[in-house]
Amino acid sequence: MLLDDYAQVAGEDAIEHLRQLARPLVGKRFVHVNSTRIGGGVAEILRKLIPLARELGIDAQWEVITGDAEFYECTKAMHNALQGTPLRIADRLLRVYEETNRTNAEQLRDVLAPADMVFIHDPQPAPLAEYIGKRSGHWVWRCHIDASHPHRPVWKYLRRYVAAHDASVFSLASFAQALPHPEYIIPPSIDPLSDKNIALSESSIRETAKRFGIDPARPVVAQVSRFDRFKDPVGVIAAYRLAKDYVPHLQLVLAGGSATDDPEGEVVLAETRAAAGDDADIHVLALAPDAHRTINALQRLADVVIQKSTREGFGLTVTEAMWKGKPVIGGDVGGIRLQVIDHHTGFRVSSPEGTSLRLRYLLHQPRKIQTMGWKAREFVRENFLVTRQLREYLTLCVGMLHGAAERIELG
Ligand code: UDP
Repeated sequence: MLLDDYAQVAGEDAIEHLRQLARPLVGKRFVHVNSTRIGGGVAEILRKLIPLARELGIDAQWEVITGDAEFYECTKAMHNALQGTPLRIADRLLRVYEETNRTNAEQLRDVLAPADMVFIHDPQPAPLAEYIGKRSGHWVWRCHIDASHPHRPVWKYLRRYVAAHDASVFSLASFAQALPHPEYIIPPSIDPLSDKNIALSESSIRETAKRFGIDPARPVVAQVSRFDRFKDPVGVIAAYRLAKDYVPHLQLVLAGGSATDDPEGEVVLAETRAAAGDDADIHVLALAPDAHRTINALQRLADVVIQKSTREGFGLTVTEAMWKGKPVIGGDVGGIRLQVIDHHTGFRVSSPEGTSLRLRYLLHQPRKIQTMGWKAREFVRENFLVTRQLREYLTLCVGMLHGAAERIELG
């Protein structure tokens, strides 16, 4: 049983709590709708949440809407605009967006209209709530993106569809928007049993080090991130250089996805390589999108992990590193603040100088690395595993299905 596997990492109590919360939901039909079955964080999380919910006795299912290239062009623009990019979406594309959702509403009506709970993920399927017509269950819009500063005209257009839901869920309080229904905050989570996070043998970690010419006997600091200016890889190199005067054997790993389909990614990768120059101790690695085990090994190889973002929605890389028992030196922004508790699970920083200072401090105190790393792992166990996210979804569902009841018997 999947739940037994999770009990091993999250603890029996966490799983018993899930069973208890799920009791009033047994037999209820829940449908999640998004726009892709593979790729991206949403698909990743649904792939785990659906089987877990089913094991708890909930009749959970996952539907995917489909559209043509223009539909995705439109929804990608919406995604960027919600994250703050000031762009105008052509009316023609908006009509495609609406039409695609109308067609999908027709196709999914028999599944969605009678469902007890429907979760609509992100902007792509948002109009379904309006186009489905008569529905018997509760509909929730789940926003996975950083909507703290949406480009207003695009949000104004989308808001009408979002408002047609009975509630919304955002990842952080600062992403919540003015809406005419209850809003809930459920932060993201990682799956401790995925390739990205599963325990690895020492030999496979050493194997990865060897493959990239990293010396595991010398100190290693790593940042795993897309090559994006907001992740500040050049600032990480500056911090490494400042620290290197005091820790001469230090090695730096900057690992990120290959940037072939992202012109800006390529530019930032080139800037990063230029900043690294011919320093043989800086390893700038462009990895394949499915290099999950490699990333896992690199995070485990590091003594300390950096995530020097200057803006960050949540920062799953921070969670991943903390789960591997690494203290994280992270930019004092966005979701990093939820995870990096200054002086406990790591340090929050705002400059290369600050980063270097904290790095030197940690590298000179291996004991501190260990205790902070332990706290970091426990902090993730308590707060950012998929079981916690499921618990919050279940709580939300129990609450919504029981309306304003003052007392809910969980059995
Ligand atoms: N990631 C990856 N390959 C890369 C770089 C990142 O698989 O080359 C993963 C990383 O492990 C994490 C996610 O992509 O799971 C990035 O999420 P995060 O919230 O840190 O940042 P985002 O890229 O969403 O801004």
